[in-house]
Amino acid sequence: MAMDLNAKAAYIRGLMNGMEFDPNSKNGRIIAAMMDLLEAMAATVTEHDDALDQVYDELDAMDEDMDDLTSALFDIDDEDEDDMDSEAEYEVTCPNCGVVTAVDEDTLLNQELVCPSCGATFGIELAPDEEDEDAEEAPAAPADATEIKID
Ligand SMILES: [Zn+2]
Repeated sequence: MAMDLNAKAAYIRGLMNGMEFDPNSKNGRIIAAMMDLLEAMAATVTEHDDALDQVYDELDAMDEDMDDLTSALFDIDDEDEDDMDSEAEYEVTCPNCGVVTAVDEDTLLNQELVCPSCGATFGIELAPDEEDEDAEEAPAAPADATEIKID
């Protein structure tokens, strides 16, 4: 690779030194100047190539750090969603035995509920907040009236 550039320049320099090269001749000056330029360019390119390798290594390390950060962030998001899920739970009172069960919104709206205490199945009537006291006093409407069957 770029390491070879320095070696190749050194090889050409060796050829020049080995032959009867006259750096003070008309053409010799130009060739000597080109040789100097070649060596300088080879050294610079090698330097840059090494630096680039180092940058790639650091980029890889940063990429891994980013992955770690990303998964850490997603984990936190998951926890937030869990929190929101638990906040979105609703308390449902069994019309048969009065036991209160917590269900999430999907269950509340889409499924017929089964009381974990007495096994009764019942549908849901969403009572506005101001009627909460009344709802506790009197059981909800008969299950048949609001029951939703889902196979
Ligand atoms: Zn019950």
